[in-house]
Amino acid sequence: MQDLTDLYQSVILDHNRRPRNYSVLPTANRVGSGNNPMCGDQITVYVKLEGDRIADVSFQGSGCAISKASASLMTVNLKGKTIPEAEAIYADLHKMVTTGKVEDDNMSDLAALAGVYQFPARIKCATLGWHAALNAAKGDEKPATTELPGD
Ligand code: ZN
Repeated sequence: MQDLTDLYQSVILDHNRRPRNYSVLPTANRVGSGNNPMCGDQITVYVKLEGDRIADVSFQGSGCAISKASASLMTVNLKGKTIPEAEAIYADLHKMVTTGKVEDDNMSDLAALAGVYQFPARIKCATLGWHAALNAAKGDEKPATTELPGD
């Protein structure tokens, strides 16, 4: 039985303590929100979309260390990406947190989240900010919620 503390690698601890791009983005033209009632995580994501490129992205919210660190990593990894590129990164991340397999060497700091797969209740924490960001970028006004099917 693996201890939950093993999940909190230095990357996660660092991003939880000092979340990157943790602010309201004044230039944002898209806003998305995410809610994970199972854990109490709530995240708001601000996206500045230029064409189909995420020119800038930030977030604010409250919740557990995993949700905050993952959202912080999301902003770092999605900034400057096109929506299809962002969806590809999210697909790799989703596979990683559900199977523990790191498919892509380019996952770099995101690989810190690989251990989440051992704690299924935490998968939603790790994907919440990404869901909210992609929904916002794609113009889906509905809040991302972990209670919808297909999560
Ligand atoms: Zn959580």
